Amino acid sequence: MEPVTLAEIRAAIRAIPDYPKPGIIFRDITTLLGDARAFRGVIDQLVEPWTGSAVAHVAGIEARGFILGGALAHQLRAGFVPIRKKGKLPHATVRVAYSLEYGLDEMEMHRDAVRPGERIILVDDLIATGGTATAAVKLLRSLGAQVVAACFIVDLPELKGSARLAELEVPVRALVSFEGH
Ligand code: AMP
Repeated sequence: MEPVTLAEIRAAIRAIPDYPKPGIIFRDITTLLGDARAFRGVIDQLVEPWTGSAVAHVAGIEARGFILGGALAHQLRAGFVPIRKKGKLPHATVRVAYSLEYGLDEMEMHRDAVRPGERIILVDDLIATGGTATAAVKLLRSLGAQVVAACFIVDLPELKGSARLAELEVPVRALVSFEGH
């Protein structure tokens, strides 16, 4: 079978204008997840640079990062670590606050989920301002983990999130980018 092209991946992502509010184009990946060829192609392409290299865990950001993270972890023979909104994890956690467009939120992960020096790949569906992903990097680094890369299907470069991660010296892998918000 021919490998999935980036044009096919772009076409498999549904754009919902003015959701959740006017001026935002929501990039809905449920259409991509429902397309067997596109879903498999995205997972294959996201992990491609690390095939055969030692990655201890894939850390996925709630909630769409869980779907991708499980598949990536399977492919890399790595474990999976969930990074969740506060109050959802049952054991002892580390927590970080991060800013949203209006106000603050907090995310957390289990304190014993990763070990110092472990090589981790972070994943979410999309990077916009990078607030979510940079907070996740801080959490992982607070436990001594080495974030070898942050992976996304979609980058919105105008919002400069990937540049923020690059400033933190986290290599960013994004398959497609869209203009605007
Ligand atoms: P940010 O912290 O600004 O980088 O936002 C990233 C998070 O918000 C990710 O978990 C995305 O799923 C979600 N998100 C932000 N903007 C969009 C968008 N235009 N379409 C879909 N999801 C988005």
